[in-house]
Amino acid sequence: MCSRRSSNCGCRPLKVTVRTPMKAISPRPIQADEVAVLEAALLGAPPGSISPDWVADLRSLIVVGICECGCRSLYFSPTGAKDRPIATSVGRTPSGKFVEVMIWVAADRVSALDIVDYESSGELPAVDTIR
Ligand SMILES: [Zn+2]
Repeated sequence: MCSRRSSNCGCRPLKVTVRTPMKAISPRPIQADEVAVLEAALLGAPPGSISPDWVADLRSLIVVGICECGCRSLYFSPTGAKDRPIATSVGRTPSGKFVEVMIWVAADRVSALDIVDYESSGELPAVDTIR
């Protein structure tokens, strides 16, 4: 997800409930910096809304899709109607750009990490800025 309203990647700004299909990639293991962002963003979830299992499983997630626009959104399973957002955080990238971070779950597992990259930084937020 990103903020490029006019891009043809299909991304839409936050608060729009219709999600667009991810771009499938050759599956790869999640990277340590991506796990760190997920962990920090999950801390912002309402108490009781996240399962300890999800946190334990973060390091073994497999990335199956990305966003074509160049933002750092990640998909761990194909998007579907049952996906729901469980945490929304804000943060700043190393170059100082403001981003929002949304974590989605589906079928009781983390299904996507959405980086709402308003300024098209193409960066993950610095972990210590995620609130
Ligand atoms: Zn995007």
